[in-house]
Amino acid sequence: MDTCSANDLTGKLLRPEILALTAYHVTDASGLIKLDAMENPYPWPEGLTTEWLESLRHCPINRYPDPEAKAVTAIIRQLNKLPDDTPVLLGNGSDEIIQILLMALKPGSTVLAPEPTFVMYRQISQSLGLNYHAVPLQADNFALDLTKTLEAISRFQPGIIFLAYPNNPSGNLFADDSIHAIIKAAPGLVVLDEAYSPFAGASFINALPDYNNLLIMRTVSKLGLAGLRLGYLAGPRSIVEQLNKIRLPYNINSLTQISVEFALKHSVIFEQQASAICAERTRVSRHLASLTGITPYPSSANFILFKTPRGKAPEIFQAIKEQGVLIKNLASQNGLLADCLRVTIGTPDENSQFLNGLEKTLTY
Ligand SMILES: *Cc1c(COP(=O)(O)O)cnc(C)c1O
Repeated sequence: MDTCSANDLTGKLLRPEILALTAYHVTDASGLIKLDAMENPYPWPEGLTTEWLESLRHCPINRYPDPEAKAVTAIIRQLNKLPDDTPVLLGNGSDEIIQILLMALKPGSTVLAPEPTFVMYRQISQSLGLNYHAVPLQADNFALDLTKTLEAISRFQPGIIFLAYPNNPSGNLFADDSIHAIIKAAPGLVVLDEAYSPFAGASFINALPDYNNLLIMRTVSKLGLAGLRLGYLAGPRSIVEQLNKIRLPYNINSLTQISVEFALKHSVIFEQQASAICAERTRVSRHLASLTGITPYPSSANFILFKTPRGKAPEIFQAIKEQGVLIKNLASQNGLLADCLRVTIGTPDENSQFLNGLEKTLTY
């Protein structure tokens, strides 16, 4: 079949919203210091790696995994201080949980989220043919615009509202009272995406019993296990039970179940790594603030969004990359991000290389 008739075929077969999508692009980081994807930069102590590999030795990979992933769910409940009977849905990353939530909505539903925020909310909504409505955050500080959000809720009656807490890519925590007002006004579900909870020192997990439409979503990715792909969602039984029906039965593979269970039994290591990352966040942020033309935004996550002189973001991004450090260029997203770059906090040495690279770029 030639290319032309293949295109005719996709046009005939596929939903137009899929043809209109752009694939999620991940830049190749080969040979570069990788400060673009909010990964934990720290390896495990040698002895722990040996112990982990030993725990995998007896994994029966000829068998299907435990469809309920009971052991890893138990330790997730314990570490997140969720009562034993709290319903928890596991996903192949929280990305899959977002997909499960959106697949469950009625056709024609509206999904509402602030803008800018995590791009997968929009991407997956569009791929499923749902309406996506974005409410702009406030220009100077990326705070929620409560009035506009409540207006949009009343007008569009969203089936789901996503709030990333802290927000990606801005790094800030939205005001608690705004979030409570949104949960109360919402006619549907409100998902608080706490992907960055290890660095945030704030959470809505204690508010779960107070609402029948609140769900808390978290992931082990930013903690330091991004390669294992495990996210989780906690919330009212009536909702989580329904979502579980459309979860594919074996979505969490055996190696992930064993590895996450093992890692979380040693969670003190991740806590130490997270506090090292938070200390570096303070240092990097202060350094950025001292540079002429650079404005860092306050962050409660493991990354910092910063503004560069008008129109300069693409060339600064490129110059830093040429010096061996990959960060994230958000300038092409326009709007509030027009002149913005985002750096993930790495090891002290990696951060210094980034800061040196940036400084050199600014002096030329
Ligand atoms: C990184 C990120 C996720 C994705 O997490 P995975 O569990 O790796 O799929 C979800 N939400 C936000 C806000 C993120 O920044």
